[in-house]
Amino acid sequence: MILIDGKKEAANLRLELKKEVLALKAKYNKVPGLTVILIGDLAPSQIYVRNKEKSAKEVGLKSEVIKYPSNVEEKTILNKIDELNKDDTVSGILVQLPLPKHIDKKKVIETIIPEKDVDGFHPVNVGNLSSGYESSVPCTPLGCYLLIKKMEPNLSGKKAVVVGRSNLNGKPMTQLLLKENCTVTITHSKTKDLKEECLKGDIVVAAVGIPELVKGDWIKKDAIVIDVGINKIDKGIVGDVAFDEVSKIAKAITPVPGGVGPMTIACLLKNTVECFKRSQR
Ligand code: NAP
Repeated sequence: MILIDGKKEAANLRLELKKEVLALKAKYNKVPGLTVILIGDLAPSQIYVRNKEKSAKEVGLKSEVIKYPSNVEEKTILNKIDELNKDDTVSGILVQLPLPKHIDKKKVIETIIPEKDVDGFHPVNVGNLSSGYESSVPCTPLGCYLLIKKMEPNLSGKKAVVVGRSNLNGKPMTQLLLKENCTVTITHSKTKDLKEECLKGDIVVAAVGIPELVKGDWIKKDAIVIDVGINKIDKGIVGDVAFDEVSKIAKAITPVPGGVGPMTIACLLKNTVECFKRSQR
């Protein structure tokens, strides 16, 4: 069994990006810029944003975090996004989710111009991805995709099962696998026999939010299993896959933590660099 080392792959990706940023600087005399808007003081959001800023600086991006109190008016955020949309030094804009209840997430997502939408959440980018056009792709499924490709460069004809259909994870994951000519089954809470569906997968991606939902006898021998879940339980942090059981059956599996998680931020940096490159064409 191969333990897919997300930390190592993310470090490799950051190193590649660092070299690319240096080359872009030499060519254009400027570097890609990432601006993160953080509203309120939720501890996990603060940690994510701090890690994003640290990683962005590490690869040489221009990084900025703009903080607002949780009672900030929606209009203030939308005006700031408008300003950043017009700022040539900003290649990518990310508004850290979740937002306070009085701020409309859809409005925020749709105000960021698609060209600077490093999260890949704007409907234009969602459409581009499903049409097979170039676009920003949500960071977590992009990270999963890169890990899968590393394990299995030729995915054509493979059966892939995606557990979960969120806009953040399951749906974009499905599109990425389809683009690779996988035969994809997307499952969700109303799926009749989840075990049966999972057993068909040469690749299984679990993005559900239920601790250790996917069991050892749900997995075909030699499948590649990608665990997106991050669940806090008494014994610590676990994924959506019962690691101890599944790791005995699978050909390769991502651990939690240390699998998909580290790739997410690295892919945010990648998206920022890609947005910059597209803006220079
Ligand atoms: P979400 O928006 O809550 O979506 C969960 C999906 O799972 C839904 O489509 C839901 O189906 C489906 N589901 C729920 N119960 C199910 C069941 N019993 N059987 C099959 N499907 C079921 O979650 P998310 O945002 O995609 O996040 C999923 C997990 O990934 C969470 O643990 C989250 O913390 C983690 N996560 C990790 C990262 C990372 O960087 N590693 C990033 C983001 C999220 P319905 O559509 O029918 O409700």
